[in-house]
Amino acid sequence: MAIPMLQKTLVGAYILRKHLAGQKRYPLALMLEPLFRCNLACAGCGKIDYPDEILNLRLSRDECLGAVDECGAPVVSIAGGEPLLHKEMPEIVAGIVARRRFVYLCTNALMMEKKLDQYRPSPFLVWSVHLDGDRQMHDRSVCQPGVYERAVAAIGRAKAAGFRVNINCTLFNDAEPERVAAFFDSVKELGVDGITVSPGYAYERAPEQDHFLTRSKTKQLFRDIFARGDRGRKWAFSQSSLFLDFLAGNQTYHCTPWGNPARTVFGWQRPCYLLGEGYAASFRELMDETDWDAYGTGRYEKCADCMVHSGYEASAVLDTIAHPLAAARVALAGVRTGGPMAPDLALDNQRPAQFVHTRHVAIKLEEIRGRRAPRKAADSG
Ligand code: SF4
Repeated sequence: MAIPMLQKTLVGAYILRKHLAGQKRYPLALMLEPLFRCNLACAGCGKIDYPDEILNLRLSRDECLGAVDECGAPVVSIAGGEPLLHKEMPEIVAGIVARRRFVYLCTNALMMEKKLDQYRPSPFLVWSVHLDGDRQMHDRSVCQPGVYERAVAAIGRAKAAGFRVNINCTLFNDAEPERVAAFFDSVKELGVDGITVSPGYAYERAPEQDHFLTRSKTKQLFRDIFARGDRGRKWAFSQSSLFLDFLAGNQTYHCTPWGNPARTVFGWQRPCYLLGEGYAASFRELMDETDWDAYGTGRYEKCADCMVHSGYEASAVLDTIAHPLAAARVALAGVRTGGPMAPDLALDNQRPAQFVHTRHVAIKLEEIRGRRAPRKAADSG
C-alpha cells in the first residue's frame, strides 16, 4: 500500500480514538469541493453542467478551513471542478497542512506546472493527478487531445521538486485489462507514489450515459487487471487491501457514505460526494439528520451500481479494524482473481430514484440573486 508510515500512524490513531470513544459514525476523508468550475469537460463528469452563476461560486479560504475544522477528518481531498482555478488554493492547502491533515490536491494538471511554485513539498501534501489511462485512453476520457502529455510533464516536474504525487484513475466500460495493467506499469516508471483507482459513478447528468460500468462488469474488470499484476501487488495502490478485494468481487460491503462527507458551494451534501440529494447547513446537522439507511446499494436505485471509493473505502477500513488478519492476508498474498465471487446485495427492495437536482439548482439561483435567504439548518432538505 502506498501510504507512508506517518499517515498510517496518524490516521490509525484517529480511528482508534473514535473507536474507543464508541462513536458509531465518523468521517475519514473530507471531500472538499470549493468550486464546480473546470477547464475541461469530461464525458463521465456529473459536476460541471451548472449555470454560470453557480460555476462562478467559490468557497472562500475561511469557509474551506472552517469545513476542515468542523469535520475533523484526518484526510482532506480537494476536488471540484478544477481546484487550481481557485485563486486562494495555495492558502487553503497551507492552512490544511498547518493543521497536520493530509491533503490530496486533485487536479487535471493543465495548470499544475505553472502553479507548482506556489506550493511547498510536505509529507502532508499529495498531488493527485487525474489520469484515466494511457495517452489515448486519457485524452478520450477528458475529451481533449494533449492532456495526457501535459499531466505526465507536470508529474515529472513535481517529483523533481520533491512533492508526493499520486494519480487518480477512473475506469469506464471501455477499459481493457491488458491496457490498464500496462498503464499502471508506465505510471510506476514515472516514479508516482501511489495509484487511486475506482470505477466511474454513473452520474445522471454526465454527457455520455452509456460509458459506465455495472457492478458485475466492475468486479470482472478488476479481477482481470489484478491477475496481470501479481494479484495487484505489482502496483502501489493508495487504497486499503480490502477495498481492492471488494473491487474484485471478494467482499460484500454496505456503503459508508458518512466516511467521506462532501462540502460544496451548496453546503454539506447528503448523502455523499457523488449524490446531491439535499444539503445541510453544518457538518453536525449532516451527521445527525441524514437518513443514512436510505442510501447505499440495495437501498436506493441511484446506488445500485456504485463501487466508488468515496462510499466503500471507509467500509473496507472499518472491516480492516474488525478483521486485521484478513486484511493482512490480502495485502501479503494479493487479491484473489478467480473462484466464486462474494454474494452481492439484493436490489429487490431499493427505493426508486428521486430527481431533485433541478429543484436544488433553482433554490441556489434564488439565493444568489437575493430572492431567498441562504438555507438554515431547519430547511435544508
Ligand atoms: S452507494 Fe454510497 S457512495 Fe455510492 S452513490 Fe450511494 S450513497 Fe453515494
